[in-house]
Amino acid sequence: MRQYPLHLCQPDSTKSCGACCGLYNFEDNVRTTLVSLLERRTKLFFSSGEKPDVFRYRRKVKAFLPAPKLFETIYNCEFLGFVDRESRKVGCLLHPLLHHGVDLRTCSFYGAQLCRDHFCISFTCLTPEEQRAVIGSLDDWYLYGLVITDVDFVKAFFSHVQNRLGDRLRDERLCTIPVQTALRDFFELKTAWRFLSRNKRLGKYYFSRAEYRIARIEYKKTWGMEPSRFDTIFMSLASVFEREDDVREAESIIEEKIRRFIEVYR
Ligand code: SF4
Ligand code: SF4
Repeated sequence: MRQYPLHLCQPDSTKSCGACCGLYNFEDNVRTTLVSLLERRTKLFFSSGEKPDVFRYRRKVKAFLPAPKLFETIYNCEFLGFVDRESRKVGCLLHPLLHHGVDLRTCSFYGAQLCRDHFCISFTCLTPEEQRAVIGSLDDWYLYGLVITDVDFVKAFFSHVQNRLGDRLRDERLCTIPVQTALRDFFELKTAWRFLSRNKRLGKYYFSRAEYRIARIEYKKTWGMEPSRFDTIFMSLASVFEREDDVREAESIIEEKIRRFIEVYR
């Protein structure tokens, strides 16, 4: 971690991310389903006390698997659970911090070294300001994991507001409550988007067995219109539009979020 200023996986006591351990890789990955799965795993894991029996756990946990996987090739790790008493942080049940310094990840599918040394592209592609803005505005693991791993979504928002402001976004303003609230309002579209496709999607990707593709929106072909200025954001929101009016309505929703953010930022 020394090479990165912020620990995106476990940034603070209010939330964390488990996306690369397969957290969202289920056809049914709504919050309630994942909470139930993580709670049951955690309870089972610690059911044998201070020294968990990893092999017994592995046998029994198979019964908890919910809906089919979204993307067959990504491993959904059975050792992802809640790592705090309040169930606010998802994390690795084998992590040494939970076992008096003993690293039980040697028993995992990827092995201890890979689990320890893996850092997703958000560590390098998001700027420190973008990373801090996401961390500062969200305090909920479910939404946090969806946003911090969607580089396009975060960058597109930053790009739109910076272009309009004619300046880069600055930490000292990003950390104020009204600005964080406006930013969270935008990020919350991830969990409350009225044009959300229900069809095996996660952000801009759609899945078919062992394949995944980018689900592009065919503006010209379908409605004879130019691509929306918010196309990147729409794809990240897994949008599906029936008609041109839907696109216009979606644009006005995004426009309002940007307008509100700029108003409080200024
Ligand atoms: S997806 Fe990235 S931020 Fe999330 S747990 Fe994995 S490495 Fe950490
Ligand atoms: S064992 Fe590795 S893949 Fe599984 S939850 Fe822990 S860190 Fe993630």
